[in-house]
Amino acid sequence: MRKYVGVSVLILALCLAFASCGGSKAKTYSGELFAMDTYITYSVVTADEAQAEAALEAVEEAFTRVDALTGRFTAGSDVSRINENAGVGPAEVGADTLTIVELALEWAARTDGAFNILLGGVSDLWGFNSEDPAVPAEEALAEALLHTDQSKIVVDAGASTVFLPEAGMVLDLGGVAKGYATDLAAAALRELGVENALINAGGNVYVMGTKEDGSPWRVGVQDPRDSQALTAVIEAEGKALVSSGDYQRYFEMDGVRYHHIIDPATGQPAPLCSGTTVVADSAAVADILSTALFVKGPEAGVALAESLPEADGALLIDRDGRITLSTGMDQFLSEKQ
Ligand code: AMP
Ligand code: MG
Repeated sequence: MRKYVGVSVLILALCLAFASCGGSKAKTYSGELFAMDTYITYSVVTADEAQAEAALEAVEEAFTRVDALTGRFTAGSDVSRINENAGVGPAEVGADTLTIVELALEWAARTDGAFNILLGGVSDLWGFNSEDPAVPAEEALAEALLHTDQSKIVVDAGASTVFLPEAGMVLDLGGVAKGYATDLAAAALRELGVENALINAGGNVYVMGTKEDGSPWRVGVQDPRDSQALTAVIEAEGKALVSSGDYQRYFEMDGVRYHHIIDPATGQPAPLCSGTTVVADSAAVADILSTALFVKGPEAGVALAESLPEADGALLIDRDGRITLSTGMDQFLSEKQ
């Protein structure tokens, strides 16, 4: 039996009781859009209707723009052109794409290669972005893995180009682009003077300020094996909370679950975790880390998170549902579920 499930929203934003508080005219304005292969929902709390309208538009613009630049299957996107020119020559890219690639390569090094943006060819063999995913042949996987050495990527910041020097290299920014777009959206909100907002891009969550009633935003971390249940509830302010899971994109064959987060060392779905959540100032960094820690597994993942000043907290769930927390994570966990 084969089952393929693509669930893009893995964190349930718990927008509890938007009761207006006495005297305040602040209201909650919400929007949603489908971009980057994900349902994106967002709310801003403000007394200024014009500001709210501009804010919702700015969020939409941020995700639409990053999607158009980084979509691997979007004709003419920067990433498509980089991939078409693999082994041929440098492709000129926009400033956002350059920044994302540079950030990803910095973190590739800082995660000992657990984060790898050259796994596009490996993912394609598994077919995680297709209607018909399947376990690839070993030889094909071995061949694809030969073209995943990120140290060979040539970034020319002056010329604003990215060059993949080997035919067969396939850039995939799927592990970082949503987080980057979330940061852009949050920055746009701040620029507009918005103080209270929540953005949820398929588990890439950013929370600013509070809800309409002045209480903190509460964000549920989905139980990897029960979409109706929560493993934890996080309360935070001015932070990104990003989750990765083996329940977002997977198929099952002969009782085995094959999911979309690849261990670059083997080309196989990373076997140690079922879910990870990282809290950080930057959603791009949290996006990278939630993927990288998933690959590293609970022990090495938590150790890495604790060594990084950029990570405020990490919550890792192993394949049996056991939870491991970094020392910083406690402060964000809500008692109430
Ligand atoms: P996320 O949902 O943020 O954990 O990212 C998963 C996506 O990142 C996958 O759908 C792939 O596009 C890509 N990906 C898979 N494995 C890795 C990895 N080890 N490092 C970086 N990106 C990856
Ligand atoms: Mg990620």
